[in-house]
Amino acid sequence: MPKPCLPERFVGDPIPLGVDLHMHSTASDGALAPAEVVALCAERGVTLMALTDHDTVAGVAEASEAARRLGVGLLPAAELSTRWQGIGIHVVGLLPQGARGALGEGLEAQARARDARAEVIARRMEKVGLDDALAKAREQAGPYRPLGRPDFARALVAAGLVPDMATAFRKHLGSGKAGDVKAHWPVLAEVVGWVVEAGGVAVLAHPLRYGLTRRKRGQLLDDFAAAGGQAAELVSGFQNGDVTRDLARQLAERELYASLGSDFHFPGGHLAPGSMSPPPRTTVPPVWTHPRLAGFVAAGCDAAASGAL
Ligand code: AMP
Ligand code: MN
Ligand code: MN
Ligand code: MN
Repeated sequence: MPKPCLPERFVGDPIPLGVDLHMHSTASDGALAPAEVVALCAERGVTLMALTDHDTVAGVAEASEAARRLGVGLLPAAELSTRWQGIGIHVVGLLPQGARGALGEGLEAQARARDARAEVIARRMEKVGLDDALAKAREQAGPYRPLGRPDFARALVAAGLVPDMATAFRKHLGSGKAGDVKAHWPVLAEVVGWVVEAGGVAVLAHPLRYGLTRRKRGQLLDDFAAAGGQAAELVSGFQNGDVTRDLARQLAERELYASLGSDFHFPGGHLAPGSMSPPPRTTVPPVWTHPRLAGFVAAGCDAAASGAL
């Protein structure tokens, strides 16, 4: 595993760091095979990446092989579905030691939860006019992976019930709509426990994308940190700089580390591996300086010499 040289703190340099710790492949709802995501990372100058498929590490073996071949640093990882106060919250588990112990069993339970949830979503989508909804979502997903809401969204589009994915989510599958079924997911604190016990770093995914007030987001961060969560995504794709600086203050207050990721799903959109807003100057430490991840970044690497300071 090649070890990238990365800065030990964020100094507000707008040059991309070549880090992306949040991306999807065909192991969940991404469009590219795991090895193709890695190849795109290599092409785009990403030196440290994490493949974070929804509730699975099924793509990690293929990605690791490609990463070794192409000289990209790859952290095994997954984006885990949880619930907190009636809201679906995502936790990225960065897993330098893989999915061990309770997390291994947890991932099996997540796959079963996804199957049970898909049946509930299917019944609800039948009520809005999508006949044989489960079979149609399965057709969209292919035979191998558990179903997600994007599969139902595509089925709604294919059936001509909505013009596009965005409308499918806005009307039927997005937050608060009939297809937004969260009851099957374990609570946030339990999932954080799995990640921490597996020797990993639990990262609160995209904290700005849950439609929370600043105060409620603070409560989420409090509960996440109290459960043992160590980091949050300071930058997820493209976001407003003032909002990012304010989020950095909320992380600093709780002594959380900062992660960065594009949440890339497919090529051709506005996101690509490694593309995201630059992190601002902040005292919040980068997640790769967490002791549990130190082995993935070159020891004694001179950040100043790397051009990042
Ligand atoms: P699930 O994991 O089954 O709950 O599905 C959630 C996924 O749906 C997210 O990870 C996104 O990839 C996708 N998604 C959520 N909202 C939208 C939207 N408005 N338009 C398109 N895709 C979305
Ligand atoms: Mn997704
Ligand atoms: Mn997410
Ligand atoms: Mn994601």
